[in-house]
Amino acid sequence: MHNLSELINYKPSADALAGRNILVTGAGDGIGRAAALSFAQHGATVILLGRTEAKLEAVYDEIESKGGAQPVIATLDLDTATHQDYQNLNAEISQNLGALHGLLHNAGILGEMKPLAQYNEDTFARVMNINLTSNFLLTKALLPSLEQADDASIIFTASGVGRKGRAYWGSYGVSKFAIEGLMQTWADEFEGSSNIRANSLNPGATQTAMRRQAYPGETPSNNPTAEEIMGAYLFLMGAESIGVNGQPLNAQ
Ligand code: NDP
Repeated sequence: MHNLSELINYKPSADALAGRNILVTGAGDGIGRAAALSFAQHGATVILLGRTEAKLEAVYDEIESKGGAQPVIATLDLDTATHQDYQNLNAEISQNLGALHGLLHNAGILGEMKPLAQYNEDTFARVMNINLTSNFLLTKALLPSLEQADDASIIFTASGVGRKGRAYWGSYGVSKFAIEGLMQTWADEFEGSSNIRANSLNPGATQTAMRRQAYPGETPSNNPTAEEIMGAYLFLMGAESIGVNGQPLNAQ
């Protein structure tokens, strides 16, 4: 077992994810894009879920041009997706791919950076819907496909401000605390009786559009790129992490 506190150094074999079907939310940009490309480069068939079709198509083309397995595009806005949309997605996966071996809940929005006393009520609800509730609904709908796999891994995306509260992070921080609770509840229900494992992963400060929005004064190159933090994502999606369940992990 690789040391769980040094996952940034994890380097799997080139075919570590061969034969695995992995769904990535927010796959069109930032960390989700890097994860989709990296999973495909290690042999997985990836399902690219996101709300901006053009971005998903660009990732699709990049995977194909690098010789990866043909991906699947699932255009869905996690803010407005209905129970039926999630059911349809599960049916498509089950019919076209069979089992689902990995689910990376990565999509998220920052919301507003301001004191809670001034925080907009609608924004609060929207952030909770995209960052938290969609993770519950999507996991629930995809359980039948995850149960078809010999082993399956779910990653919930955490944040430092969801492990210790910090001023001005509003519902983003609250949603990330709740993600840890959602992860732990699923993990405890899976423990000992399921082929599925669930863990949370804090990417840490990473050069993306969201990081630039949160820290406009920061020099982006002071932080690693999304490509540089993929060790933890690859470890959790591969067979080497079988038995790791319910853990709050860090990518760097
Ligand atoms: P980005 O803003 O770069 O990417 C977010 C992705 O989520 C985009 O692809 C975006 O799609 C997608 N998305 C947003 N809203 C929706 C929606 N309603 N439906 C479907 N897709 C949606 O963020 P990062 O890559 O930085 O963040 C990825 C995850 O990592 C998030 O959960 C974030 O909270 C977490 N994180 C990031 C850190 C960092 O330093 N970057 C640190 C700690 C945690 P589109 O491009 O179409 O808008």
